[in-house]
Formats: sequence, structure tokens, C-alpha cells
Amino acid sequence: MKMSNDSTTHEAPKNAMALDVAIVGAGFAGMYMLHRLRSMGLQARVFERASDVGGTWYWNRYPGARCDVESMQYSYSFDQALQQEWHWSERFASQPEILRYACHVADRLDLRRDIQFHTSVTSATFNDAAKRWDITTDRGDRVSARFCVMATGCLSTSRQPDFKGIDRYRGKTYHTGNWPHAGVDLTGLRVGVIGTGSSAIQAIPVIAAQAEHLTVFQRTPNFSIPTRNRPMDETYEQSWKQDYPARRAVARTLRTGVMTEVNDMSALAASEADRQRIYEERWQLGGTSFMAAFNDLSMNKASNDTAAEFVRGKIRGIVKDPAVAEILLPHNHPIGTKRICVDSQYYETYNRDNVSLVDVRATPIEEITERGVQVDGKVYNLDVIVFATGFDAMTGTLIAINPHGRDNVALADEWEAGPRTYLGLMSANFPNMFMVTGPGSPSVLSNMIVSIEQHVDWIADCVGYLQAHDLPTIEPKREAQDAWVEHVNEMAFRTLYPTANSWYMGANIPGKPRVFMPYIGGVGAYRAKCDEVAAKGYEGFALGSNRATQAAAE
Ligand code: FAD
Ligand code: NAP
Repeated sequence: MKMSNDSTTHEAPKNAMALDVAIVGAGFAGMYMLHRLRSMGLQARVFERASDVGGTWYWNRYPGARCDVESMQYSYSFDQALQQEWHWSERFASQPEILRYACHVADRLDLRRDIQFHTSVTSATFNDAAKRWDITTDRGDRVSARFCVMATGCLSTSRQPDFKGIDRYRGKTYHTGNWPHAGVDLTGLRVGVIGTGSSAIQAIPVIAAQAEHLTVFQRTPNFSIPTRNRPMDETYEQSWKQDYPARRAVARTLRTGVMTEVNDMSALAASEADRQRIYEERWQLGGTSFMAAFNDLSMNKASNDTAAEFVRGKIRGIVKDPAVAEILLPHNHPIGTKRICVDSQYYETYNRDNVSLVDVRATPIEEITERGVQVDGKVYNLDVIVFATGFDAMTGTLIAINPHGRDNVALADEWEAGPRTYLGLMSANFPNMFMVTGPGSPSVLSNMIVSIEQHVDWIADCVGYLQAHDLPTIEPKREAQDAWVEHVNEMAFRTLYPTANSWYMGANIPGKPRVFMPYIGGVGAYRAKCDEVAAKGYEGFALGSNRATQAAAE
């Protein structure tokens, strides 16, 4: 397919690299986007700041990093040969194995020839006259592209709190989201971990087994469920492979995009004995499917309380020192309203002699001194500090690029009070700029590869439609976007999620607007909506280019 020779389209600026589509990011989203666009005959190129593909799985090399969606489901479904030939060695794949998988896909589809590594996109500006995106990079590239796809990831800007004194610290510091490739030998060292989210909960047991002493600084206890990870069972693998297309098709219609048995009854409808039995079965099964023990755990506080109390009981049972167990008990948010954590021997780790827990909720970390972390006047001497302090999620990476759209309007200004998108795919005033798994789509509430594939397919089809109809631009109509944002909010506030100070709400970043960012209506319902919008000739989008069209649309 060749791009339109729209007579109003200006040439690319002199010396600029002219592309049909510029893609930012070479994680699973950017990789599949490149593949789809190339197969349509389009000139597409990916810009990636890392030295290779993999995104999340390239950066997050901390000890213990692994997936919480089963390997058989956390993989691309678009290529039958690929899903048949790849063998996962464990029920939940580790980071190195997922990274190997990403590299295998890149090799197999010969993706790297159109990926420019070691290159950060630093600006993206819509040129109204040319109807093209002018993009610059930290390597001095100037790119002119008709479309820009932001495959920049939802958890790709790691956040290190601005602790007083950090520059004075003489030991080594690492962030889980940017872990050294060569690994870090912690043998015989005094290590501190700040944070107890999903990353920390995976890392802590592994670090404890290596370090001389581990001190965990916990501000908010989290709920964690054992993963019960194990080597891949061959019969289980074959059962999936024999039925892959059908199972993948089902997964796409489900709420989370993960095939899990949901017990379709309220927790309050079960007797106390049955409830405990069902929770125990889920606990033994392991993994995030614990939250599917009943159908109303994310909606009904009284139901949720029963699940939360069950897990608190488990923590009390596992952790031998009652004072330590007490600190680990989560009380300040309903279970699941912060991303549920999964672990291998997390709570058990606090029974080790070389592990101590410091509660920094009532008495926050005061400063980092030359020798360690100071809390309540006491310095914990450390050779290494690991920041497991999370990400500026969903918006941080995009806002760092701060695309400028029509009339030079900045995305940071448009989203000042929280992200505003239509379907999480585009934002008004930013024609021809797509987001993969953007805010306002199911995204981080789902099996991300299912959501990535859906977005990439939708975007590729949309570009194909614009080509076929000789339409130079697409962007959301303001009223369609407003209605979608309202719907996203309304759906969120039907649930318990907004009651937690989570990164879903932007609550982990000081000053970030408190808005529930992902769409909670479910992967299946959302897909149906996106398909319907496309089938109706991209209902809610303004197609065309000139201001008159745009003004009329609004
Ligand atoms: P990413 O993988 O984040 O890739 C984005 C890429 O864009 C990165 O490589 C980044 O370097 C690049 N980039 C960003 N900005 C720029 C720029 N300005 N210039 C150039 N390049 C740029 N999801 C699940 O469904 N299940 C899980 O079990 C799961 N586990 C996770 C564990 C961890 C530790 C983390 C952090 C996330 C996890 N996720 C999980 C979410 C995970 O992010 C997605 O599953 C998926 O990998 C996202 O792919 P992506 O391509 O959209 O984004
Ligand atoms: P996170 O969930 O945001 O956790 C960050 C932790 O750092 C929290 O415990 C937070 O405490 C703490 N923290 C931040 N600032 C602090 C401060 N100033 N003082 C003390 N503590 C501080 O980040 P994450 O663990 O990296 O996980 C992010 C997301 O990535 C997950 O929710 C999940 O979606 C994904 N992930 C998935 C897996 C997996 O199992 N597959 C693994 C890792 C990550 P507060 O809660 O009090 O803010």
C-alpha cells in the first residue's frame, strides 16, 4: 500500500527522514505495530531508547522479576506458527525468558532493520500546514511522519522519590525499573529495599537469600498471593497449543483478557464455611485468579472485606513474629484496588534471621545519609539501596515527550487535570497520533498483550481505512472524547478502585491529578465498542484535514 498523495500535503522538511509512520517504543506494542504496518507496505520506523527490543522486559531485570499472567497466555496470538514453536519453561515466565521471547520474535520477523535503538524521541509536533508530525530525537534526527504511534508503555518511566541527601550516599543505588544488565552481586552486603509493591515483593525473597542482611522499608503493606510457579507441564502446554486459536478468541472477549475460572456468585451469597473453602482453593491454586473467587470482590466492600480478611489471616499464619505480621497486614485499601501482588515465599522471607522490616508509614524516611537510610533519627547502615518505588504510570512517558498538536497545543496542558482520550487511542487536537494502551483503555487492568494486539490491529485498520478513502487525518471529536472520559469515570466509580491511593489514580506521584486512568469496563466490552466505532465509519472521530471540517465537527 502506498500513502496518499494528498495535494495539500507539504513535503517533509529538508533533510528530515520521511516516513509514513513513526513508532516510539520497541516493546511488545511497537514490535507488533511495526510488523503490521510493514505488511501493509508502509514505510514505518521505530525509535527506541534501549539497545534492544522488549520494553518492560528489557528494563526490569531485578532479581525475581516475572510475569503474573500465565506464560501460555502472556504471548502474541497473531501468528499461529510463532505460538506453536515457542516453548515456555515455567507456568509463569521469568523476565529473562520473556526477553528471549521478544528477541526471538524480532529475529523471526526481521524487525530490527527498521528499529533505531539508542534513540530517545525528544519532541513531536504536528505541522498543521503539512499535516505531518515533525519528530526530533536525542541523536539529532529530524523525522517527518504522517502518523505517529506512541507505543511508549504504561510503566516505562521509573520513579525515584526525591529523598533529601541522596547525593551524599556513598553506597550503590539501583531502581528495579532500570536494573543493570550485568546483574548485581549482593552476596555479603547490607541491602535496603524501599517499597513493597509488586516489584519489591518479587525481589525481596531473592535478595534476602543473597544479602548478608536485608532491611525492607515499607510505607503501605500490600496484599500478595503465592504464584505457585512450577516448571511447565507438557500435557498442559499441549492442551493449550492444540486449542490455541479458540482459546485466544475467548480470552479477547473476557473482562481481563485472561482465561480464568470466575466464580459467578457474590461472596456474601456463600456460607462462611464455603467462602473459606473457596478462598483456600484459590490460595492453593495461586496467582491473580484469587480475585475471581467471587464475582463482586471489586464492587462490594462487604464482599471484599471477606477476601481481605482471609489474606490477612494467611499473613498472620505465615509470619512467625506477631509484631512483624501486624506491620505487614494491609488495612488501608480494599484487596485488589491496588494491583494485587503475587509472590514466591514473600511473607516467609520475614521469618529469616537476616531480614528486618521498618514501618515508614507513621515515621517516613527522613533522609538518605552518607551511610544509609535515616528513619526517626536512626540510620540504617547499608551498602546498597534498591528503589522499588514504581513508575510515573500511564501518562509520565508521554508527557515527557509532550507532543504538541494543532495550534501548538501541548499535551501536558490538555491533560493538566488528567488524561483525556477517546477510547484511549487518540486525544482531540492531536491528529494522526495514536496511543497503544493509552489511558481510557483497559490497558494495565488486562493481560497487556491481548490489549496491545487489539489496539495495534485497530490502528492498522484505521490507517488502512484512511488510505482507502484518501483521508489525510483523523482525530477525536471533542464531544465524543468528553463522553468517553465521563463513561470511563462513571465505570470506575461503580467499583472500589478509586478508594485506594494507587498509581491507577496517579496517587503515587506528588501533584499528579487524581483520576482513575484505565478503563474498567472490560476487554471484551471495550473491543466491541472499538469495533462498532470503526464499523460506523469511525464514529466520534473527525476525518479529514482542514480547519473547517474540524470546526464543523465540533
Ligand atoms: P513497554 O514494554 O513499556 O515498551 C515501551 C518502550 O518505549 C520502552 O522500551 C521504552 O524504552 C520506549 N520509550 C518510551 N519513551 C521513549 C522515547 N521518548 N523515545 C524512545 N523510546 C521510548 N503486564 C501483564 O499483562 N502481565 C504481567 O505479568 C506484567 N508484569 C509486569 C512486570 C513489570 C515489572 C512491569 C514494569 C510491567 C508488567 N506488565 C505486565 C506490564 C507491561 O508493561 C506490559 O505487559 C507490556 O510489556 C507493555 O508493552 P509496551 O510495548 O506497551 O510498553
Ligand atoms: P508500585 O506498585 O507503585 O510500588 C511502589 C512502592 O514504593 C510502594 O510500596 C510505595 O509505597 C513505595 N514508595 C514509593 N515512594 C516511597 C517513599 N517515598 N517512601 C517509602 N516508600 C515509597 O511499583 P512496582 O512495585 O514497581 O509495580 C508497578 C506495577 O508494575 C505493578 O502494579 C504491576 O502492574 C507491574 N508489575 C507487575 C509485576 C508482576 O507480578 N508481573 C511485577 C512488578 C511490577 P506506597 O504504596 O505507600 O506509595
